Amino acid sequence: MLFVDTPIEFLKGVGPARAQLLQHELDIYTFGDLLEYFPYRYVDRTKLSTISAIDIDEPFVVLRGTLHDMHSVGEGRSSRLTVQLRDATGQIELVWFQGLKWIKESLKSDVEYVVMGKPSIFNGRISIAHPDMERADRENSVSLKYIPIYSSTEKLKSKGLNTKGIAKLTEQLLRMSEGRIPEVLPNNVVAKYHLPNRASAIEVIHYPLNPQDITVSLQRMKFEELFFLQLDYQYAKHDRQTKSGGFCFDIIGDYFNRFYKEKLPFELTGAQKRVVKEIRADMKSGHQMNRLLQGDVGSGKTLVALLSMLIAVDNKCQTCLMAPTEILADQHYANISRMLDGLGLNVALLTGSTKTGEKRKIKQSLRDGNIDILIGTHALIEKDVQFKNLGFVVIDEQHRFGVEQRSKLWTKNTIPPHVLVMTATPIPRTLAMTVYGDLDCSVIDELPPGRKAIKTIHCTDSQRLKVFGFIREQISKGRQVYVVYPLIEESESLELKDLMDGYESIVREFPLPQYQTSIVHGRMDSQAKDYEMGRFKRGETQIMVSTTVIEVGVDVPNATVMVIENAERFGLAQLHQLRGRVGRGGEQSYCILMTGNKLSNSGKERIKTMVDTTDGFRIAEADLRLRGPGDLQGLQQSGILQLKVADIVNDEPLVRAARECVQDILQDDPDLQKPDNVCLRLHLQKNKRGLSWSKIS
Ligand code: ADP
Ligand code: MG
Repeated sequence: MLFVDTPIEFLKGVGPARAQLLQHELDIYTFGDLLEYFPYRYVDRTKLSTISAIDIDEPFVVLRGTLHDMHSVGEGRSSRLTVQLRDATGQIELVWFQGLKWIKESLKSDVEYVVMGKPSIFNGRISIAHPDMERADRENSVSLKYIPIYSSTEKLKSKGLNTKGIAKLTEQLLRMSEGRIPEVLPNNVVAKYHLPNRASAIEVIHYPLNPQDITVSLQRMKFEELFFLQLDYQYAKHDRQTKSGGFCFDIIGDYFNRFYKEKLPFELTGAQKRVVKEIRADMKSGHQMNRLLQGDVGSGKTLVALLSMLIAVDNKCQTCLMAPTEILADQHYANISRMLDGLGLNVALLTGSTKTGEKRKIKQSLRDGNIDILIGTHALIEKDVQFKNLGFVVIDEQHRFGVEQRSKLWTKNTIPPHVLVMTATPIPRTLAMTVYGDLDCSVIDELPPGRKAIKTIHCTDSQRLKVFGFIREQISKGRQVYVVYPLIEESESLELKDLMDGYESIVREFPLPQYQTSIVHGRMDSQAKDYEMGRFKRGETQIMVSTTVIEVGVDVPNATVMVIENAERFGLAQLHQLRGRVGRGGEQSYCILMTGNKLSNSGKERIKTMVDTTDGFRIAEADLRLRGPGDLQGLQQSGILQLKVADIVNDEPLVRAARECVQDILQDDPDLQKPDNVCLRLHLQKNKRGLSWSKIS
């Protein structure tokens, strides 16, 4: 066994009990894991504070003084130990709640200590709970200037593994590690990027001699982490592209050509043309296509999907499109049937509300191969929906589907069908590079001509009357209006009240019979929802009050105003999606963001971003910056949230470098046969990441 793979239990001073805690609390299983458990900060121990000068906001202070007045207070669970620490400038209390007996015995009065910890206010006085103590006369033999501070947990601390305990273990382990921490990156990569070697980087991070060394060493560890993430993804992609079979659609036939020449009512945008070409190339490569199509709402993704579907049909295959909601599936069905009218293709719709008899007929025609294009919802992935020869699958708004659901679709044929997943939630480039490292990405970054940019305005509650006036004016011009309320599941009933209050005030302001107002929310059954949506779509109601259920894909080109209530409570991605509900026709559209007067800083920045730009990618970048990747849709399974040292937001240059580095290696040596790359092959064999986007997306 490699030294670094030795179970942590075998480190002197750990043992089974602590080992179990280290595993549970910090994911530390091996020597290697502990070596890679890095300090989150350092304390310059030469920078002593004095007691009178303690800044309560400091996360950490180093003091030097003597101990007086040791007291045990309270009984049982609430007992604690207090000691006064005194220096030339004053006195504060040190307090312990756990391990009292041991601490009491080990502390000596009238001896000078170096005391480190976080100051806090308790009973109006400054105190430090569970400080790290060291006798000044026995100061660390190594006499380090920078003391590493490791994060720990209450459970670990109760077993003596506070930052100091961890530091002790690490120090010991490092001493044993001499010559036993192997390099994991190829030698030529280490040389090319001037990286410190692994062993010395790790040592420096735990015990730096000066701050500059930390940066260089951390960079190296971050690069390594990102490098292997990229390697996993890119190798999976490479594997798929070279090994998995797939339909070869090399014919551009009658259906495609007739549609393109006779039916297409407009010229494709440059971006649409480019993407169709990319898809065509994939489809005739002989390998399964697995492509992500990103494009803002209204950029014309559906049309690209339709053209691709026609290629599949020209090549004698069936194809299907799966949408996340019935409303969307209906809409796609209506649009696509209309556009394909007269071409003699058989298009069918299958959703949860398709009648049983009709369902049976559809399933039979699918098996017989009589249906060319099937559009639907989750109903498509049911087991008994079987195709004669499914060759191409489109998934709209892919982030709305679970992994399982999606992957069911491409087991519906013996040869895996080509897959195109579409999303209108743009993914920042850094993330796309990582998360979708094994997917091919296409981007439609151009809107069809003639669209007017949506005007976004921020209004506070005091301007509500003006907003109502504006709505009235738009309705008098024949336009329609959305008013959206946030609805977050946790406090659903409370916010449902917000929504109902809002609805009532709208109805008061815009009374019947002159005005008709619809309301739609998640608590309504889908029939009632569809009924109200239908009325709004047909223009029978002018105002739609709703929760975010209308977020995805609803297409009412006549709607020109989107009022978002409590806009500060929405994330940027969601605001962007909502705004995309307007501006779908030729008229000037408006998005009004309503907020209270007081906004948090991040609330302010979100609103400002929305007012400043309509570019989905810029918004996505801002979202990532403001919230970090943890909240972004669809990333939970991606592995990037488990990164230990690197940080996808702040380490973008490193992400790029790692990606390019891996690309170069795989291009030069696709099967990793060269001596330099043997270590990478070993890594891939050993470390099968539990995930592959090629199977997910
Ligand atoms: P997405 O699915 O990306 O939100 P859609 O495909 O629904 O966008 O397109 C939005 C609207 O723009 C549709 O009404 C569609 O017919 C129209 N459209 C698509 N491509 C073009 C184009 N090249 N020129 C003009 N209109 C287009
Ligand atoms: Mg769409």
